[in-house]
Amino acid sequence: MSKKNEDVRFGKFGTVSFTRTTRVNDFIDHLESGKVMYTHCNTCGADFFPPRADCAGCLSSDMQWREVTGTGKLVSYSQLEFAPVGFDADLPYSIALLDYGDFQVFGRLGGDVDLAEVMIGMPMTTVVNELPNGQLNFVFKIAE
Ligand SMILES: [Zn+2]
Repeated sequence: MSKKNEDVRFGKFGTVSFTRTTRVNDFIDHLESGKVMYTHCNTCGADFFPPRADCAGCLSSDMQWREVTGTGKLVSYSQLEFAPVGFDADLPYSIALLDYGDFQVFGRLGGDVDLAEVMIGMPMTTVVNELPNGQLNFVFKIAE
């Protein structure tokens, strides 16, 4: 692939430092349509988030996209006082891990989530979020 044809769709992704060029760029197209997706291996049944183009378990490339739906269980969260370069304007924000059973999703708590209401083990949902600069990411919200 030449530099000119480099697929840079992941440059639109605002939260996690995924590599910019990847075979899982469809993730961004799904975000733009309001869906947070993971990949599922059709050969061995393993699930991956962040999505992978090849299965880490059996090396198969027979993968399919599936939507992260329903609620995950909050495993842990932490409010950040310091952030990596490029994320400092977002402070303070909280990173968190949700357990969906077959896979886990690492991300941020929504900016409107009241930390006083957050409890380990509570059900949360993963939703697409547009940042003030137009970048897309996904955040966790307390389930209704
Ligand atoms: Zn597999």
